[in-house]
Amino acid sequence: PVNFDNLEVGFDVPALPGMDEADIQTPCLILDLDALERNIRKMGDYAKAHNMRHRSHGKMHKSVDVQKLQESLGGAIGVCCQKVSEAEVFARGGIKDILVSNQVRDAAKIDRLARMPKLGATVTVCVDDVANVADLSAAAQKHGTELGVFVEIDCGAGRCGVKTTPEVVEIAQAVAAAPNLTFKGIQAYQGAMQHMDSYDDRKAKLDAAIAQVKDAVDALKAEGLEPQFVSGGGTGSYYFESNSGVYNELQCGSYAFMDADYGRIHDKDGRRIDQGEWENALFILTSVMSHAKPHLAVVDAGLKAQSVDSGLPFVYGRTDVKYIKCSDEHGVVEDPNGVLKVNDKLRLVPGHCDPTCNVHDWYVGVRNGKVEALWPVSARGKAF
Ligand code: PLP
Ligand code: MN
Repeated sequence: PVNFDNLEVGFDVPALPGMDEADIQTPCLILDLDALERNIRKMGDYAKAHNMRHRSHGKMHKSVDVQKLQESLGGAIGVCCQKVSEAEVFARGGIKDILVSNQVRDAAKIDRLARMPKLGATVTVCVDDVANVADLSAAAQKHGTELGVFVEIDCGAGRCGVKTTPEVVEIAQAVAAAPNLTFKGIQAYQGAMQHMDSYDDRKAKLDAAIAQVKDAVDALKAEGLEPQFVSGGGTGSYYFESNSGVYNELQCGSYAFMDADYGRIHDKDGRRIDQGEWENALFILTSVMSHAKPHLAVVDAGLKAQSVDSGLPFVYGRTDVKYIKCSDEHGVVEDPNGVLKVNDKLRLVPGHCDPTCNVHDWYVGVRNGKVEALWPVSARGKAF
């Protein structure tokens, strides 16, 4: 039996390996390890069968342990993340190939980025402005390191990235000429279509993106600057990039855990993607803390335990009760038949996995009713 008595007061953890799932303290994140491993293997097999590299998006899980599983079971070649501080956590955790799939413009952050290869990682960053090239190059020279560069194309997300092929070529040429920088390829993630409900709508957006990226790649080839990697793709689009003949690297993140908002989108056969394509592996475990009103249960997972930017969580595996309201520390669950009791536990599927994981310290890995692993959410809160 697991004994919490040797933990100092104030340093509790939600669970310890070996304990029964029933004894986990809530609210906390649990990972169904069987489902997680199946998702990871499935994406790995898909990527391999389509000759794609998979660079799993670590800003989703923020966990060195999950990333290592994606590399060992799913053949992922490395990680991408959005923040220098996330990249530092992965580098310190021993991840060897790191892409910051974002712009780094501030001098102090550029300096941190340029130091990172000293930890033994290959580090690549996105650039969408020729003015950024000299700063990155100077920092890498100062530290005696080498940085890879992806030129970022805005292929429909309306976020970072250049829109035109001449701009792509101009930046790539500047990178190729800059000391201590290597032009590695293209970043072209279409982030605005991933959650569109219909497969055909998503396909139309990706068809346009692929045509735009192909135009840029052809122009680069004509200049003798063939990109080694053309990278993009998420859980709502990876099959389009994989069959494009243009992309050769995927960046899927959410597939590993899934969430309520993603689960609702439909595949090419009109089936929800959480009904066969990907399994829910991430849950917020929550307990009923009050049932003072006969038809309403109050659970201990509110905003401190999740993000509701993409909607409320649903109660996994149950149609008799419904999570209807969220406040800072409380969740209100409709219980029309009064079936719940105080201390009953529910598994919630969060609306959006990435920002939900960001508000927790631990993943509790469970299998067959037992706690098997306790993993830190290593890069939680790493926003700078
Ligand atoms: N690539 C980039 C640049 C992203 O910002 C994201 C997520 O927002 C992803 C990949 C992963 O996408 P998904 O979680 O949809 O698989
Ligand atoms: Mn997301």
